[in-house]
Amino acid sequence: MTETTLSMPGDPLSLQRKIMQIAWIGLGNMGGPMAVNLVLAGHVVRGVDLDAALAQKAASRGVAAVDTIEQAVVDADVVFTMLPRGEHVKAVLTGPDGVLAHATADALIVDSSTISTHLARELHEAVRETGRRFLDAPVSGGVSGAVAGTLTYMVGGRADDLQSARPYLDILAARVVHAGKPGSGQAAKVVNNMMAGVNLVGMCEGAVLAQRLGLDPNVFHSIATMSSADSWMVRNWYPIKSVVETAGVNRDFVGGFSVALMHKDLGLAVDAGSETGTPLEFAMRARDAMAALIDAGLADRDCTVFVKVIDGSLPPPIADLASTSH
Ligand code: NAD
Repeated sequence: MTETTLSMPGDPLSLQRKIMQIAWIGLGNMGGPMAVNLVLAGHVVRGVDLDAALAQKAASRGVAAVDTIEQAVVDADVVFTMLPRGEHVKAVLTGPDGVLAHATADALIVDSSTISTHLARELHEAVRETGRRFLDAPVSGGVSGAVAGTLTYMVGGRADDLQSARPYLDILAARVVHAGKPGSGQAAKVVNNMMAGVNLVGMCEGAVLAQRLGLDPNVFHSIATMSSADSWMVRNWYPIKSVVETAGVNRDFVGGFSVALMHKDLGLAVDAGSETGTPLEFAMRARDAMAALIDAGLADRDCTVFVKVIDGSLPPPIADLASTSH
């Protein structure tokens, strides 16, 4: 284990703090600010991303940008992955030039991407077979939570491995919950995002309806947040301009939580529904709404761009959504 110590002059107990070597793979909308928060907390972070511009952006905030996974993980105590989909995580971890080929023998690997529960379990086994430790540790809280270090971590895996990861997770998150055995973090995440996705489409419909009924959006928003329509979605992503600062509508739906990722997560939920015999009619409709936005060329936009379908500024008409399936 690579370990340096740093005297913290402001520390009342004059404690020596460990500076750990951290590898961060995937410096996108979420991973970029999360890696920067670890740097700001005093850790050395080697970051890698296929997109050189994103690596450069993280480097401008103190992340040591490197070109390969090998360079990132070679002496890292902890390896984080924050990648779009399961296939990326699997390739990055188990591929010939991946993490398991180059990481230190006792590395702790923390995957914070959202992937399927069964792939998470498979990766737990693959990592354990090499003698290393793994946590499936997805997050909730959006890009604003990643920037502010106020995410919620839901973690699957061994309690002692979570204990080892806690000093880092506590920097990134306001809450860290041990969801249970391997795969449980992803199980919690997929259900959470399914509920959020269904909430999202209902919120977009309601926000447009409120306007068309002549309500002032700020007035209605304050009523909703004090009433039974209140939710994280309504408080953070309300899709009408100048109501909620963190909402995608205020930045033309650039950045944030993309349509492609919401479509992926709703698809994971629908698959889990099929596997468990659970009818998920509304999750399917929300997934198909996201699929229609992908067909309209909006995969990279924030998923609240769905409001444009409801207000009529975008095709396809809502009536067509139920017939679209991906
Ligand atoms: P993103 O697409 O912005 O970032 C992912 C990054 O991974 C990209 O920059 C991409 O270039 C990089 N990447 C892909 N393959 C790579 C490889 N082989 N090596 C190095 N880099 C690679 O996505 P995001 O919004 O940051 O989301 C990341 C994960 O977090 C997803 O699984 C998503 O579902 C989950 N998530 C996102 C949010 C959100 O609000 N954006 C919230 C919670 C969870």
